[in-house]
Amino acid sequence: MKIRLIIFFTLASFAITSGQNFPKDYFSAPLDIPMYLSGNFGELRSNHYHSGIDIKTQGREGHKVYATASGVVSRIKVSPYGYGHAIYIDHPNGYTTVYGHLQRFSAKIDKIVKHYQYSQESFAIDEMLASDILKVKKGEVIGFSGNSGSSGGPHLHFEIRETESEYPTNPLLYGFDIHDDVAPVIRGLYIYPLDETAVVDGSNDKKLYRLTKIGNTYSLQNAKVPLVSGKIGFALDTRDYMNGTRNYYGIYQLDMYVDEQLEHSFTFDKFSFSESRYLNAHIDYALYKTHKRRIHKLFHEDNHKESFTEVFNKGIYFKDKQQHSVRIDIADVSGNKIDLKFNVQAAVQKETPNLGGPLLSYYMPNRLEIENFYVKIPALTFYKDIPKKEIQAIPSERKDSYSKQYHFLDETVPLHKNITVGIRPNDIPHHLHDKAFIARKNGSKYRFAGHNWDGKYLTAKTNAVGDFVVLVDTIAPQISLWRGSSFKKTGKLRYKITDNLSGIASFKGKIDGKWVLFEYDPKLNIIWHILSPEVITKVQKHKLELEVKDSCGNIGFREAYFTW
Ligand SMILES: [Zn+2]
Repeated sequence: MKIRLIIFFTLASFAITSGQNFPKDYFSAPLDIPMYLSGNFGELRSNHYHSGIDIKTQGREGHKVYATASGVVSRIKVSPYGYGHAIYIDHPNGYTTVYGHLQRFSAKIDKIVKHYQYSQESFAIDEMLASDILKVKKGEVIGFSGNSGSSGGPHLHFEIRETESEYPTNPLLYGFDIHDDVAPVIRGLYIYPLDETAVVDGSNDKKLYRLTKIGNTYSLQNAKVPLVSGKIGFALDTRDYMNGTRNYYGIYQLDMYVDEQLEHSFTFDKFSFSESRYLNAHIDYALYKTHKRRIHKLFHEDNHKESFTEVFNKGIYFKDKQQHSVRIDIADVSGNKIDLKFNVQAAVQKETPNLGGPLLSYYMPNRLEIENFYVKIPALTFYKDIPKKEIQAIPSERKDSYSKQYHFLDETVPLHKNITVGIRPNDIPHHLHDKAFIARKNGSKYRFAGHNWDGKYLTAKTNAVGDFVVLVDTIAPQISLWRGSSFKKTGKLRYKITDNLSGIASFKGKIDGKWVLFEYDPKLNIIWHILSPEVITKVQKHKLELEVKDSCGNIGFREAYFTW
């Protein structure tokens, strides 16, 4: 009887803090240096929520990375982008750990990876391994920390996923040794009028309110009471800090009460990769695009689904001339808490005529067209209905373009799905057909978007709106010897590869006529081959051939002879 009671209470306390009973003390740390983070779970990133933790590696690469529990390597991925060199280990307790941005693998794993790379003649691989191929023990070195893939500095990206669902879970719920008694901070409150007749302090646009803080409670500066009427949304600029670092992090948990009624609540315990792009609806995307600030909107858009937001509103109506209390509780994963309390004064909503023009429905597919341009938008691409704006055809800013420049919506409009744009180029010589592509203007740069021909139209699938134009790329990528220590010193053949316009699509290296592995780091524009007696015989003259292709199929070649 006594034992039962104890179990009951233990489960109950888990349920309050995390909602799920994650195994504590099952996983050991993946590195043997103190655990400081440069990023945490649920952090608001570009087009996604961060699905793991980023562990700092003292500014350098090459730390041993250990299997955090025994299991089988279920997947190995190598890519110049994303997680770079990454290992996935399935554990018998139903969880999978992921280790990303590795510099290299352990000798045992590297042998298997090289086998795949050489048999597929590709640097990039993504292999699912049967469970009897590669077993690892808890504490075994599986690789070395690095900065590979889309990493902006040396660190280890570490994830714990549910094996079955592949949902990433919050690694800080597993009892790792992290000391954190620093509470989150709130940098500002935003109040949004959410329809044409809603008003916030006399404005039809969102308003920012500055805050003051006493103890762990924030309030509005000068005890301000915002005047609101109609459909209103709240949003917070809030972040977390931890001991021993200057980095900032995402918050873990937030509850918003209006008149003591829970109106919005989320907890970053776990989510699905399929919902990660709803981040663009969660933040104020336009504010991010214009001010590089990612805030938490505490209301949902019409097309906005997040399983970790257990309670949500789509705007709250104020129209009764009363004051209403708002309280927002925020916690980090270590249990440090703050809150924000303020009142709003509701006013009667004015019945002003609807001045809005026609809308583009988020719910329906759309196809728009002007002159030689069309855009196809699948259903559920926008997060809400958006004001319909005419596509503009303007003279191209570039002399070398083969179309006008077509402007479709501002970059501040986020997209949940890819749209298809088509342009019929003017007077493009037949021999240049294969070299033409649609470029999307991004700031002052023109990025390759696609180059499929659909009848007389060039088409591209793209996940962003803005300005589109047809360009032609006839210039092959450049291959030049990497300036630095010679291969005799480093044991590496290194070359710099660059492309002027459409970007590098693939590359290939051969020694003495046989494919050899060149690794690729697009951040540094270099490819390199590590010389090894397993690949070529020593003290002999060898012929090296390099071939680099851009997105329009132009191929750059380079030949060299060397004795190693
Ligand atoms: Zn990461």
